[in-house]
Amino acid sequence: MEFKQKYSDFFDNLDAEHKDPERFVPALGPSDADVVMVGEAPGANEVEHGEPFVGRAGKKLDKILEEIGVERSELYITNLVKIRPPDNRNPYRDEIDAWRPLLKKEIQTVDPEIVLTLGNFPSREILDTSEGITSIRGELFEINGRKVMPVFHPAATLYDRSKTPDLEKDLEKAFEM
Ligand code: URA
Repeated sequence: MEFKQKYSDFFDNLDAEHKDPERFVPALGPSDADVVMVGEAPGANEVEHGEPFVGRAGKKLDKILEEIGVERSELYITNLVKIRPPDNRNPYRDEIDAWRPLLKKEIQTVDPEIVLTLGNFPSREILDTSEGITSIRGELFEINGRKVMPVFHPAATLYDRSKTPDLEKDLEKAFEM
């Protein structure tokens, strides 16, 4: 079923200002996946292709997944905010608040073994913390009886390559659980 149709209760009640179909990217992946990955928000490449993580950060993620022997098609990949923030700015509070309930529903629906939060924005939301990703990455948390592990966002490893081994190590650990 099409994403918007599946979550029509949410979309029917979403404020018009957050609805912009020109900037919207749905989640991708099996709705019974063992692992849910949550990014921040789509970028221009994602909007162009209508899929999350297909730009530079996505390519980096693909490379790491390949190295640790994980099939991307087995993962449910989504974003905290599902419309692209203009000029690649950080998502605003009102955007996060508007989209947060949908992420909660997606996680309930997929009911995965573990949720991986990529970078500060989804990690802080799901873990309800103000801790930075550098201090909590790779730690295993339990939220409402579900495993959650924050990891570096793959885009961060593009800016600082020294973070790549940490992301690889954390993902490997998560997939072994
Ligand atoms: N960065 C994200 O957080 N999400 C995407 O879908 C792409 C890049």
